[in-house]
Amino acid sequence: MKRIGLLGGMSWESSIEYERIINTEVRRRLGGTHSGDLVVRSYDFAEIERLQEAGSWDEAGRLLAADARNLEAAGAEIIVLCTNTMHRVAETIESAIAGRFIHLADATAEAVTAAGIGRVALLGTRYTMEEAFYRDRLSAAGLDVRVPDEPDRTMVHDVIFEELVQGLVREESRARYLAAIDRLIADGAEGVIAGCTEIELLVRPEHVAVPYFPTTALHALAAVEAALG
Ligand code: GLU
Repeated sequence: MKRIGLLGGMSWESSIEYERIINTEVRRRLGGTHSGDLVVRSYDFAEIERLQEAGSWDEAGRLLAADARNLEAAGAEIIVLCTNTMHRVAETIESAIAGRFIHLADATAEAVTAAGIGRVALLGTRYTMEEAFYRDRLSAAGLDVRVPDEPDRTMVHDVIFEELVQGLVREESRARYLAAIDRLIADGAEGVIAGCTEIELLVRPEHVAVPYFPTTALHALAAVEAALG
């Protein structure tokens, strides 16, 4: 089994889900007392949020790339960046490491395509929904990507930063998310990507009438496949 390096803490509310899913899947596949072989770098998320708000993406990229190399020095052969948003600097990380980088948007696009879906809604942070780095990667895989209109887009972003990364899962926010999802489905979305690693803590597949793609689970399972495959 290959060692997986997790760049996590973005936020830790979802990083612990990565650990749980990876360990559970390794046990399911190998049995007995097996669990994932992991090294973790978990950030103080306030520092990451500060870099995002300042638009200091180059600095963030250098930070994450240096820590990805540290994970490799600790034996990691696979690097997993446990956040959709910070894939904005994925190229910087990929070019700094020797091992394999599992791109979250690729793992997601693969699952959406395998489900036979072409037009898909994307929920995430404002960075993920509005900037090119993530949407273009999905489009390049052949997907027609739709994001919520305003004011839903602001609501989706604010719930992530003001609630989910702070460990707050609120029924009223779930209702607002589901209403936004209903509008996207009415507009033709055939599936929904939870394109922020905390969203699946709030909205689960059973809440959504169309196929739902939780990126934490998809990414963590892709990591296990790479580690064992
Ligand atoms: N975990 C989130 C994501 O997947 C948001 C936190 C962040 O901005 O990194 O995008």
